[in-house]
Amino acid sequence: MEKKIAVIKGDGIGPEIVDQALRVLNKIAEKYGHTFHYTDVLMGGVSIDATGVPLTNEALETAKQSDAVLLGAVGGPKWDNQPANLRPEKGLLAIRKGLNLFANLRPAVLYEELNAACPLREDIIGDGFDMMIMRELTGGLYFGERKTIEENGVQKAIDTLTYDENEIRRIAIKGFDIARKRRNKVTSVDKANVLDSSRLWRKVVHEVAKDYPDVELEDMLVDNCAMQLVRDPKQFDVILTENMFGDILSDEASMVTGSIGMLASASLNETKFGMYEPSHGSAPDIAGQNKANPIATILSASMMLRYSFDMDKEADDVDQAIKKVLQKGYRTGDIMSEGNTLVTCSEMGDAILQEL
Ligand code: NAD
Repeated sequence: MEKKIAVIKGDGIGPEIVDQALRVLNKIAEKYGHTFHYTDVLMGGVSIDATGVPLTNEALETAKQSDAVLLGAVGGPKWDNQPANLRPEKGLLAIRKGLNLFANLRPAVLYEELNAACPLREDIIGDGFDMMIMRELTGGLYFGERKTIEENGVQKAIDTLTYDENEIRRIAIKGFDIARKRRNKVTSVDKANVLDSSRLWRKVVHEVAKDYPDVELEDMLVDNCAMQLVRDPKQFDVILTENMFGDILSDEASMVTGSIGMLASASLNETKFGMYEPSHGSAPDIAGQNKANPIATILSASMMLRYSFDMDKEADDVDQAIKKVLQKGYRTGDIMSEGNTLVTCSEMGDAILQEL
């Protein structure tokens, strides 16, 4: 297969971690007879330095013309004093909007080898867990009308939460499709005992479920879900939820896995197109020192293979290679513990390539 990938290395550790992910993609291309065409796209601080803005129209256009985007991270102290509309993070918002990325996927995987980083009890962790939080990204409370008024001398703030059935349907379809690539279970999270938007959410999710008789669907109230994530995280496969609930639950889920350097993410639109990036930032404190953990970015590249290119076997191969490297005790500084071997960012890349 031939695929066009827009590569946004960005700032800080971005170039170091993306380079390791590209080595892995090249190895996969060689092993399975694919061709990946890469185009470098400037975004964030490096784009501000080169063009004066965090994302140019041409850069966005290049991203649109590709089959997927691989992103490192943007931002850093150098650009902290820029005016708000010219900060590196504005590039991120602009590209998400420009590409209509409405579905955010964040896997929370606890590898048995990294149990020490998990704040949960050993009997809860067992041999680890593997769930996917699927969050609606462009609707709900964060995008509704808001205002602050004064009524009879009292300040009053109003935020509105709206969802229409089409917004719910398109993310529900994504959720069920993704469950089919995993363990065939969707937990739809809402607050249907209180909110009308949640009652519509539940109704539409159940309608979509009829087209997926092979996928188990359960409903869960968001307060219960917050508890279940720490009581028994193993029960979850895909958690499907709206914007604000997803914002909170995905951070909770990532916390129980322990390490920021291991957390991948993807944002998808209605087609197979997606943008794939680690959940962490540009880590300016360790940038340029070859110390960063490239695994979150390599796992993001693996998600790109699976969700944008339907290369499931290739993605499994990458995921297994990472597991083996962890089993062998290779660790970057952020996940280092006694008795293991400390490696640099590029040595971690070497070790993963060795297993492919
Ligand atoms: P951060 O995630 O960059 O760093 C937090 C801590 O985690 C740091 O100590 C860092 O060294 C460590 N860390 C992060 N990724 C790591 C990795 N792969 N390997 C090892 N250690 C890692 O968050 P921050 O310090 O709050 O933000 C730094 C910059 O990144 C800011 O400019 C912020 O705006 C930006 N940022 C960008 C994104 C993005 O591009 N999507 C996301 C969050 C923050």
